[in-house]
Amino acid sequence: MENKPLLRSLVPGQFAALVDSLGAPAYRARQLQEWAFKHGATDWAEMGNLPRTLRQALAERYDLSALQLQERQLASDQTRKFLFRLRDGQTIESVIIPMADHATFCLSSQVGCAMACTFCATARGGLERQLTAGEIVEQVIRLRADLHHDPIPGLGDRGHNVVFMGMGEPLDNWEAVEVALRILMTPDGLAMSRRRIQISTSGPAAGLRQLIATAPGVGLTLSLGGSTDQERKQVMPVPGRTSLQEALRLAADYGRQAGRRVTIAWVLIQHTTDLPEQARRLAGLLKGHNFKVNLIPLNPLSDSKLVPTEQPRVLAFQQVLTAAGVPTFIRASGGRDIDAACGQLRRRRQDR
Ligand code: SAH
Repeated sequence: MENKPLLRSLVPGQFAALVDSLGAPAYRARQLQEWAFKHGATDWAEMGNLPRTLRQALAERYDLSALQLQERQLASDQTRKFLFRLRDGQTIESVIIPMADHATFCLSSQVGCAMACTFCATARGGLERQLTAGEIVEQVIRLRADLHHDPIPGLGDRGHNVVFMGMGEPLDNWEAVEVALRILMTPDGLAMSRRRIQISTSGPAAGLRQLIATAPGVGLTLSLGGSTDQERKQVMPVPGRTSLQEALRLAADYGRQAGRRVTIAWVLIQHTTDLPEQARRLAGLLKGHNFKVNLIPLNPLSDSKLVPTEQPRVLAFQQVLTAAGVPTFIRASGGRDIDAACGQLRRRRQDR
């Protein structure tokens, strides 16, 4: 059977037309919207203030829920990793990462990924399909509910950030990601500030241009993995990859437009992406632009020979960049004792 569209794929402005088409009075739109986004309902029966006939009419046309929790892993550092099963049996991962005073929700934008990065578990299976906006938004709903029912001790109550750093290349699914962003940010949706949202991309030019054309104002992270096109090709060997220069130029354009500093994500792989000359070249590429760098020591995959860079070399790499005036931070990769590297949990379950 063909899946129904998800209620949470509608942007708040569309709810008025929906209730009107079902012959219900206008104020029902606001109630329905609140169930969808504010209360995060996952069952029509929860919508106690809506008449049963309206709920039935809605349920005939829309699905309220598309994600079923299949597995939840808890790391010693309190990172929580979720494997969700979708209506067609595909699975995706989402993660809650505890930060100093808030939680970061790491979302998937596709089932699988076409980007073929050598260090990434998601890349191994290729791209299965795009996620819909409703499937993206529901990840936030589910993670938020998890935190609500089971708060992380000592985390404080500063809410959550959202990063598109889970499975997939968000700019290759811009149509759905763009709708999801609007739902996340509108006051009648999830009412999140654009400052709390970050898109991470491997930098396809077409996608970056769409991002600039839409101007959502959210943060941008560009994953580099190499200081020349040749180096990048070895670590991120997707055919037709946008050149480094062009990706950096478009990212900088977007950063200026959004009034935000763009982040460069750099995975540190021993003897591959941690050479001093790479740090020097990277500094040269970034100098004079409003970029900062996040160094991410590789989260090693069990079936790969790639090894994370050791701490002294991480610090040396950082030192070269900071000496050149590029603000550079070392990001701990969380959840080492669970399958926290992008796509690892899903992959392990598929292998069974
Ligand atoms: N396709 C997008 C978003 C998904 S990857 C992108 O490329 O940015 C999100 C981030 O996770 C990227 O910066 C990527 O380099 C990093 N990453 C993926 N697998 C990793 C691993 N095994 N160890 C460390 N970082 C990893």
